[in-house]
Amino acid sequence: MQEKGTISIHTENIFPIIKKFLYSDNEIFLRELVSNAVDATQKIKRLATLGQYSGELGDVTLEVSFDEKKKTITISDKGLGMTAEEIKKYINQVAFSGAEEFVEKFKDAKDANEIIGKFGLGFYSAFMVADTVEINSLSYQEGAEAAKWTCDGSTTFEISASDKKERGTEITLFINKDSEEFLDKWKLQGILDKYCKFLPVPIKFGTKTESVEDGVDDKGEKKWTSVEVDNIINTTAPIWTKSPSDLKDEDYLSFYKQLYPMGEDPLFWIHLNVDYPFNLTGVLYFPKVKNEFELQKNKIKLFSRQVFITDEVKDIVPEFLMLLHGVIDSPDIPLNVSRSFLQADSNVKKINSYITKKVADKLSELYKKDRKAYEEKWNDIGLFVKYGMLSEEKFYEKGKDFTLLKNTNGDYFTLEEYREKVKATQTDKNEQVVYLYATDLEKQDGFIQSANKKDYDVLVMDSPIDSHFIQHMETKLEKTQLKRVDADVAEKLIQREDGYANLLTEDQSKTVKEIFEKAISNTNYTIEVEGLSPEESPVTITMEEFMRRMKEMAATGGGG
Ligand code: ADP
Ligand code: MG
Repeated sequence: MQEKGTISIHTENIFPIIKKFLYSDNEIFLRELVSNAVDATQKIKRLATLGQYSGELGDVTLEVSFDEKKKTITISDKGLGMTAEEIKKYINQVAFSGAEEFVEKFKDAKDANEIIGKFGLGFYSAFMVADTVEINSLSYQEGAEAAKWTCDGSTTFEISASDKKERGTEITLFINKDSEEFLDKWKLQGILDKYCKFLPVPIKFGTKTESVEDGVDDKGEKKWTSVEVDNIINTTAPIWTKSPSDLKDEDYLSFYKQLYPMGEDPLFWIHLNVDYPFNLTGVLYFPKVKNEFELQKNKIKLFSRQVFITDEVKDIVPEFLMLLHGVIDSPDIPLNVSRSFLQADSNVKKINSYITKKVADKLSELYKKDRKAYEEKWNDIGLFVKYGMLSEEKFYEKGKDFTLLKNTNGDYFTLEEYREKVKATQTDKNEQVVYLYATDLEKQDGFIQSANKKDYDVLVMDSPIDSHFIQHMETKLEKTQLKRVDADVAEKLIQREDGYANLLTEDQSKTVKEIFEKAISNTNYTIEVEGLSPEESPVTITMEEFMRRMKEMAATGGGG
């Protein structure tokens, strides 16, 4: 058999499009070809379970290899293979997706959605890095003849009989001059690690050396020898594909280590699992971070049927949750399409609010289940919760019930509890409840002490996000003002009745006040002489909260 032919007319337009625009990244070719090989393998397994293939499945490990001298990269599978007719149908008819037809045919079969391909264009991404591509395939069908297809990137192809004996497909890329960087072990290993690490079929890439036990020596001690074993680059059943009830804490922790080898253990995690109205699985982790400077966005990895797509999860994950870590896998997230399309996509919007809800529910559950443990974690969690409440109205509504405020004694209160605590003593003439807060426990210690003396409570608000959170609370909480503990508010609040010993006479106080005023000579400050003993801050110098915020804004160039 020898045949020449022309690939359907419209390919003349589509080739340059594929080459230039479809994929921004050349390395994607490997993801596409390996995904096809995985699809073909899943299909033969499916056919076997359906009783439509009665031959031996055998070892279905895929193999990726390269030859530096011949300048080739080969991807071979033991999947269902293709006959010459099928190659013409599925490969030549660009944009005719065989996967779509297969899913259509088996749409009632449970695992049909394990098929990755959907777009009918993936195969042609090979031409981004290859001058010529060869397909050598033997179909599973009884009496099928092996076929070989060659195409040099133009719209013409050649197809002929081949002597392939094993079921499956072998794709060979003759790498072009500009892409020779891919003919490198570490480069390929890196790409496979990135995109294929969690694919459901074992993938072999070369071999590696391993130490194995080799009997015992004369003294009865174990002997070890080095052997070359297959280098399998993937984990075929990552935890997000499993049921939460089959998993232990260790499994989640070790998966986290696998994703982020350098990271500290996460605080807790959320296993996502939904199949209606969209399909989504995944595990999101709350990382342990010491301060907001350690926060990194885009640590969540997005997969589609276990194929890595991107860690640019903007638009899919709510902005504030981009600080979380973990994986999300959804066949319903459109791939290879523009950002604006993604934003408008209704599934993406649903996914976004589902994740927000899940995270809020989990936090609420942790809070309700064990308040003490939640308080202990608050230092780490607080940052995410506050950030979430600042950036998403929906989350504020949920979060206000499990947000904690901590005072200088180390006690925690919910927003509601705190209001109850302070409203009796800390209400000013205008019936505004005044929350006092400290941003620096050491520097403001004198002010904290004198506020506590008057029975006022002082909150700790010492992280950079707190300055935003304070302003947000003022807009959200009715009749509430937040004032830093060194602001001149104390006198306006209801004072403690039982006086404290004033060691100075009225005249003396006045004189002291004048001395200070003269020395400072800045009307932004208020001087108060309380005549306490020297250890108890006899004189306090305060500034109006508003003035201070203005000054701080000017100093930091606004925004504070
Ligand atoms: P998609 O995967 O989106 O369908 P591709 O361009 O990647 O589009 O592949 C086109 C079709 O070619 C596939 O749907 C499949 O029918 C066939 N095909 C590609 N690679 C293989 C393979 N390794 N084994 C069997 N069939 C394959
Ligand atoms: Mg494909």
